[in-house]
Amino acid sequence: MENKKRGVMLGLAWGDVLGCPVEGWRKREIEEVYGEYRELPAAYPVDKIAEKKRRRLRPLGLHSDDTQQAMALVQTCLAEGGWNRDAWKSILVQGMKQGAWRGVGRFFTEALHRMRKGEMVEHAGSPSAGMGAAMRIGPLGALYCQPEQADHLWQVALESSLATHRDARAAGFAALLAHAIALLLQGRSGRETLAALPELARQGEERLQEMSKQGWRMDEVNSSAIREAMVQACTWIDLPVEAMRRRLSDWARPQLKEGFTRAHPNQGFVLLGGLHALLMACRDDLEPTEVLLSIIREGFDTDTVAAIAGAVLGARFGDAWIPKEKFYDQTRIEAYADALVTQVRPETPASFLKQEAELTDIEKAFSCRK
Ligand SMILES: [Mg+2]
Repeated sequence: MENKKRGVMLGLAWGDVLGCPVEGWRKREIEEVYGEYRELPAAYPVDKIAEKKRRRLRPLGLHSDDTQQAMALVQTCLAEGGWNRDAWKSILVQGMKQGAWRGVGRFFTEALHRMRKGEMVEHAGSPSAGMGAAMRIGPLGALYCQPEQADHLWQVALESSLATHRDARAAGFAALLAHAIALLLQGRSGRETLAALPELARQGEERLQEMSKQGWRMDEVNSSAIREAMVQACTWIDLPVEAMRRRLSDWARPQLKEGFTRAHPNQGFVLLGGLHALLMACRDDLEPTEVLLSIIREGFDTDTVAAIAGAVLGARFGDAWIPKEKFYDQTRIEAYADALVTQVRPETPASFLKQEAELTDIEKAFSCRK
């Protein structure tokens, strides 16, 4: 159990780091530079990379927003007194003031600006059905993995998600993912876990409705979409990977915002990228590393989809498969993985923000050099 809890943090970080070199690239572009993308490169093949993309490269092995926000969640949960949504707001706003956050999306930044101006956490979320809440949620499933902690897991997962994402699908899927990780840590198989998710999604809908009545600002765009997706998804898990991806795209296409016609399985929409990650990570026919590489080779939001899958894979397979020595900030990432076992905060919030701000400066200096 302990190495599986560690695996949640380390798997998340490894998916993030492994996907980072080709974040936002198209499949064809990845193939042109790397042939078959098979590992974290030892050095960037800079000559082969177009200048526009070169400027966005970060030090190899350095974690991005997915991992640092997961660390911030762990910080908040392990503070004295436990989870507190105002403490979550505080670390998010402080992180922005100190330049800690890197590689973040527009919706995350806008939510933080609202909080900074004094908006309540309950009203700050952006109208996004993206993966920004799901990408950081994994560690919550490890911190509160016991069946008797399910209530608390719902509360922390939904509150932390709605704070930045007020679309019920983004928060609902993130919370569902946290529960999936808790079930895996309780010893259920990937298949058993998937089978439990439609009913859990129904519970999530009820909780979201309850929170809406309590004053949480929320966009309930097709609030049953997650449950319906999970019912379908259980029937796709035995299909070959390509066929599974086609079903996923076909199912999600009508749900896309107007103007988005491409339903790519790694697109930044929870019912595409998020569900793709969960399904890939629950399959029985691929090794964990192959799951991540297969996701990343498809392009688009590579690091985030791989981070979500990595957290689930860690909960299934533990941490032995993860090459920790490839992390740029190995010591701290391992300390956060240990914290999921010991429930002891690995550093102070001040230290967390300072360290992350320094890494962000390092990333900036690196991008300028290219
Ligand atoms: Mg990222």
